[in-house]
Amino acid sequence: MYDPLLSPGPGVGEPYPDSYWADTAGPAPEDEGQLNTVIDTDVVIIGGGYTGLSAAYHLAKNHHIEAVVLEANKTGWGCSGRNGGFALKAAGRLSYQKMISRYGDKVAHAMFDEMFEGLDRLRSLIKTEKIDCDQQSDGHLWVAHKSRMMNVIESEAEFLRKQFNYDVDILSADDLKQQHFISNEAKGALRFRDGFGIHPLKLVYGYHEMFRKLGGKIYSASPVVQWDKVSGKHLLHTPQGLVRANRVICATNGYTAPKLHEGLRNRTFPVLSNVIVTRPLTTSELEETGFQSSDVITDTRTLRFYYRKLPDNRILIGGRSAVTGADACNEKHNQNLINALVKKFAPLANINYEYKWGGWVCVTFDDIPHIYHDEKDSSVVYGMGYGGSGVSYSLQAGVRLAQKMAGIHTDLPMCNSPLPRFPFAPFRRVGQRGLYHYYHARDERSVVIT
Ligand SMILES: Cc1cc2nc3c(=O)[nH]c(=O)nc-3n(C[C@H](O)[C@H](O)[C@H](O)COP(=O)(O)OP(=O)(O)OC[C@H]3O[C@@H](n4cnc5c(N)ncnc54)[C@H](O)[C@@H]3O)c2cc1C
Repeated sequence: MYDPLLSPGPGVGEPYPDSYWADTAGPAPEDEGQLNTVIDTDVVIIGGGYTGLSAAYHLAKNHHIEAVVLEANKTGWGCSGRNGGFALKAAGRLSYQKMISRYGDKVAHAMFDEMFEGLDRLRSLIKTEKIDCDQQSDGHLWVAHKSRMMNVIESEAEFLRKQFNYDVDILSADDLKQQHFISNEAKGALRFRDGFGIHPLKLVYGYHEMFRKLGGKIYSASPVVQWDKVSGKHLLHTPQGLVRANRVICATNGYTAPKLHEGLRNRTFPVLSNVIVTRPLTTSELEETGFQSSDVITDTRTLRFYYRKLPDNRILIGGRSAVTGADACNEKHNQNLINALVKKFAPLANINYEYKWGGWVCVTFDDIPHIYHDEKDSSVVYGMGYGGSGVSYSLQAGVRLAQKMAGIHTDLPMCNSPLPRFPFAPFRRVGQRGLYHYYHARDERSVVIT
């Protein structure tokens, strides 16, 4: 598998992974094909995922700024076509509690509102643009995987109500059984009323169509393989073409290769996440697991599993995976997900997966996304770093990127500061392995160690 820390680039016209999403999304929308000429544009966007397409769409729609999109492979080939489809009010990995202690009440509230806006924007865009992306009903369950985690859930609920005036529901193990599913592991849950499941590849196809309807051009199989700047113009070379542009948006997220741009080097950390999808559950499996919920679900592990029942009664479950691209195909990572599923739902002891795939989540050193410009060249702007929570916020990031290009400033930590560099960057993966061991031991212990 492509390894963003080691490979020169994500390929040229690579097919989608054999995912459930690629199998069920229908034909990919038309694009301009591979760039095979020289073109001039005001803004060029590198990366055809949610961020790049949202930026392109909002540049055209709200600011009448011309942009073209260059995608190495196909629309949504990166995370946008591979994720779990959990649209949540979230961005990055920083907890609300840490937001308050790092930035203070006022700024943390503004960040909370920004994430809220991202999710609301997604919901209304799906509706107004009639994006057919299998949206499921609202609800996100955060399930206590150990009894001791109910304390954490209760204090989080209290905190959200008090600090953000944001109401959530606490469910007991019995409530879960009656309203959602019967799980051996679940000790109760916090239920957010406002997250929902979508088909991620259909969603990105929707963005693609929206931009093209405005006359936008998307070139597939057109990776940027060389980037020069001559007399104030950016020259982006692709295998068969060249784009001359005044300004550039980097929307390459976890798929950013180290040599793409010096200003991005060592400022993101790609982390693999794996997903499997089972066959549809049988009627008796549905009865035995009591799985009636279409809420999106995460558990309280630090190395959390995310899972949901898809509209055709299959179960999707994902979680952390290999550390390197070379180890990504190791079967043990899929078995880890099957074992987690069976631990949650004993009646599924004999189930296997029908689909498996993985993708690179983009982690930042300060755990928040950044929509900012290169420190040495303000004509290069980037939006990335959502951790495992970018489905809704990438849409909002595209809005912010477009505003930035139009000279509109947003005074939020994600929009007013550059991606920090990782200290000791060459050792990131050593640290990651160590943390995986530590977090796993902490997640699975059954007593509180003080
Ligand atoms: C397995 C998995 C599960 C996830 N689950 C969820 C979830 O349930 N909920 C959630 O909120 N978030 C989830 N995420 C994160 C979410 O998918 C991402 O945050 C989001 O899709 C990022 O979109 P993007 O457009 O910024 O990046 P991407 O979709 O990754 O797009 C980047 C694109 O840039 C292209 N590119 C890279 N280099 C070049 C180049 N040199 N030239 C041209 N093109 C280039 C790549 O081909 C790629 O298509 C998950 C991620 C993974 C991997």
